[in-house]
Amino acid sequence: MQILIVGGGISASYLASNILAKSQDVQITILSDEQYLPYDRIHLCSIISCEKNENELKLDIPSVVDIKLNEKVVSVNIESKTVNTTNNIYSYDKLIIATGSRPKSIFKDNFSNVVTFRSIGDSRKIAGGDWK
Ligand SMILES: Cc1cc2nc3c(=O)[nH]c(=O)nc-3n(C[C@H](O)[C@H](O)[C@H](O)COP(=O)(O)OP(=O)(O)OC[C@H]3O[C@@H](n4cnc5c(N)ncnc54)[C@H](O)[C@@H]3O)c2cc1C
Repeated sequence: MQILIVGGGISASYLASNILAKSQDVQITILSDEQYLPYDRIHLCSIISCEKNENELKLDIPSVVDIKLNEKVVSVNIESKTVNTTNNIYSYDKLIIATGSRPKSIFKDNFSNVVTFRSIGDSRKIAGGDWK
């Protein structure tokens, strides 16, 4: 059975581990729109303070899980049981949406000196000071 998880956060990582603990007879694919393997957002502060790098925040995911990075899901076709990313089409038997949330900006416009704080990219921006 092919299980497709959309989203590469901590939910996806725990889901994959827990499903595999109950059954080996599944293929699990995680589709993440990020460029980094799933990581622990809770400790992003340590990237800003340069105490850790992104490798040290990586979450444990069984090696049999197929993780596809830079794959943003843009549509789901429930009749053909496929999802479309900007680059590819993936089939599933079971689909799990674990796309989390994004910060809602209080501004309508983007300002070069305002950042949100949610991702490794945001943390690097803040740490680098190039957003001032
Ligand atoms: C700085 C910071 C500190 C935090 N501290 C705490 C804390 O102390 N305690 C606590 O309980 N919680 C904390 N949180 C919140 C916690 O990190 C979140 O609740 C948790 O990350 C949610 O996990 P998730 O997997 O559901 O979603 P997310 O971590 O948001 O992961 C969702 C993933 O799906 C991807 N995605 C979204 N849309 C698509 C798409 N269309 N196609 C493909 N991929 C997609 C996203 O890019 C992301 O990789 C903190 C969050 C931050 C940012």
